Amino acid sequence: MMGSQDGEQEQLFYSFSLEDHVPKDHLLRGIDRFLDLSELRGQLAPFYSHTGRPSIDPVLMIRMLVIGYSFGIRSERRLCDEVHLNLAYRWFCRLGLNEPVPDHSTFSKNRHGRFRQSDVFRRVFEVVLQRCMLEGLVGGEGFAIDASVIKADANRERFVPAAEAKKLAEGRGASRAVREYLEALEANNPAGPNNDSDEPPSGDSTPPKNISPTDPGARWTAVRGGPAFYAYSTNYLIDLDAGIIVDVEATPAHRTEEVDATRTMIERVERKFDLTPKRLVADTAYGAAPMLNWIVNEKKIEPHIPVWEKSLREDGTFSRPDFQFDERTNTYECPGGKKLTSTGRPTNAGTVLFRALQRDCGNCALKQQCCPNTSHRKIARSIYEDARDVARTVCSTPAYEQSRKQRKKVEMLFAHLKRILKLDRLRLRGISGARDEFLMAAAAQNLRRMARWLTPATV
Ligand code: SF4
Repeated sequence: MMGSQDGEQEQLFYSFSLEDHVPKDHLLRGIDRFLDLSELRGQLAPFYSHTGRPSIDPVLMIRMLVIGYSFGIRSERRLCDEVHLNLAYRWFCRLGLNEPVPDHSTFSKNRHGRFRQSDVFRRVFEVVLQRCMLEGLVGGEGFAIDASVIKADANRERFVPAAEAKKLAEGRGASRAVREYLEALEANNPAGPNNDSDEPPSGDSTPPKNISPTDPGARWTAVRGGPAFYAYSTNYLIDLDAGIIVDVEATPAHRTEEVDATRTMIERVERKFDLTPKRLVADTAYGAAPMLNWIVNEKKIEPHIPVWEKSLREDGTFSRPDFQFDERTNTYECPGGKKLTSTGRPTNAGTVLFRALQRDCGNCALKQQCCPNTSHRKIARSIYEDARDVARTVCSTPAYEQSRKQRKKVEMLFAHLKRILKLDRLRLRGISGARDEFLMAAAAQNLRRMARWLTPATV
């Protein structure tokens, strides 16, 4: 005869300690050891609501989000359910067995409403980074920078012309993502007597033709020949010692804005943490002349960055490296031994043109290899060529080879972000939604790194 379970759950009194039921090697124990949010409550006091919907304790909200981003629980409803049911999550959130978990609508309202204005997610990221520095995981000698595209929460089938962006605010009232976009539009193209432009924000070198009606700040982009979609980019600046993320910035998924994030992050880390690297490692996308000039001449950082070269010819004719620059006379010498001179006046493209004499080229035996289709040869030299030369010199050293290998650390962080933390598509809309998600994900990655490196028993 089969036995039956009966009656045991009706026991009236239990002796139960959550502490005893969380395994000693649980990853959350390691994370808990390095997460100190005590200063946040005071900073967030002005943002508590004393009327209407009850406030969640911000520390509880942050702890729940740390669980969500550390374990790839992206849905707020599921996160609330998991914290309710999982003993380790309850322990980490400092919730007793009988204490209620916020319902997901209250959680959402607090997360996206009153605490967003407080910049709390950046504070959390910085508190975690400070702890990484305290634990000696940030050397500050070498940084690497890169960007990764993350899909926006926007239907790729739907679009409206960018020039009609203001119409998105008509009718039922604009969503937060639309309001943010229109405010940015307004800030970059302020209405004046001669300016009522509907163009997308300036500073964007190639403004989009179409935008998403639900998240107009996202950019239509494609990765490696796949189908295009709306996306934002997460930009990481990492320290190369232990791969700790020292800054993160959300931008629309566009090369120009990703590269511009370099200045924002380097200067913010310098201002807030007094950290300036001796070398900066990046790929060719960051090797344009103005960026190299800023890195070399303004920030005095060694650029371990390949130079963005547009001057190499592939038709067999001489390229610019075949011409020798003479700094003393400010001239180029061509392979035929003639001088190319300039007026010194820069073009709009930030270059100075050096020209050979027409009569030299006309009589030259090398003309077919040099300028077969023009009467004489011209060479464009960047006004920032000195910085480009510094980068070229660095890139020929063994130290650069080492840096190139180290750059993989930032790529591995992006792979971890997408595959393990499951952040391959945003759940929040607008640039501020992307910023909040990227900051919390980066904080979670740093916490996991600290937990695994400094408490190796955690799993
Ligand atoms: S064609 Fe002109 S620039 Fe070219 S090698 Fe001859 S002289 Fe020099």
